[in-house]
Amino acid sequence: MSDGPDELWKRLKAYEGQAAAVACVGKDPVNAPMIRHWCEAMGDANPAYEGPDAVAPATMLQAWTMGGLSGHEGRTAAFDELMTLLDEAGCTSVVATDSEQEYLRPLRPGDEVTFDTVIESVSERKTTKLGTGYFVTTRMDVRVGEDLAGTHRFRILKYAPSRGKQKARRARRPRPVVNRDNAGFWEGVARHRLLIQRCTDCRTLRHPWLPGCNSCGCPEWDTVEASGAGTVYSYVVMHHPPFPAFTESDHAADAAGPYAVGLIELAEGVRMVSNVVGVPYDKVRIGLPVRVEFRTHEDEEGALVLPVFRVTEGEA
Ligand code: ZN
Repeated sequence: MSDGPDELWKRLKAYEGQAAAVACVGKDPVNAPMIRHWCEAMGDANPAYEGPDAVAPATMLQAWTMGGLSGHEGRTAAFDELMTLLDEAGCTSVVATDSEQEYLRPLRPGDEVTFDTVIESVSERKTTKLGTGYFVTTRMDVRVGEDLAGTHRFRILKYAPSRGKQKARRARRPRPVVNRDNAGFWEGVARHRLLIQRCTDCRTLRHPWLPGCNSCGCPEWDTVEASGAGTVYSYVVMHHPPFPAFTESDHAADAAGPYAVGLIELAEGVRMVSNVVGVPYDKVRIGLPVRVEFRTHEDEEGALVLPVFRVTEGEA
């Protein structure tokens, strides 16, 4: 099918102008602690956001309207219907593409925010790199009393993923992020050697790899090869989300999930995060002895070697 107006679009377009949410109330009034956390996270030290005459950063507009995990009362059926129509047409994937905000009145601590959301527009059918679908734009009007304080437009693409792309992505196992600081570690792993960085000044061992010593600040280092022995210092069990690239890998038995991710304390004293293998995920315990094992994953990008830790308890 080609891009442009189609039969589905005519049905989708009927939702333009309908309310997606009405008479919603902000979970908290505009308040100083949330403003302070925001400013710290953004590194914004503007004095306008502090003190008795403080205003909230304008870009916090959406922070006052977020529903959190529990959501908001006031959502209408129209938006759900629109999404269902798209799902039924095969546009099951969604990605947020962009948003626009307008600010009309400053928000100050103590302001109680209310808001309504309208389905503003639905685009004609479009083909993108991700797949073919429809852009849906909603507009939230944020008020304090009768005053419009700002608007927040939010655009999503609801699309049918293009199959070729998805398949290519599926086969590819995610690669570790290799940078100039940790490249030596991964070069070692490729040669089945587990290398620990060592400060050449104070001899402190460190992992993960860093450009300098945390103990003395010295930038010079060499490496020692780990024996490979260690113990489970702590662990978590991954249940969700399942990663297709893991379940389809050549070691799917351990990776299909749930699977255990351990913080392994090496015999040399440093700790590293990796999979614990060789026992069911629910048999992993703190203190279990483990030994490194190097696994090779083959896919279209070539071979990827990763260190994992096999439980050795019970071995002779
Ligand atoms: Zn040092």
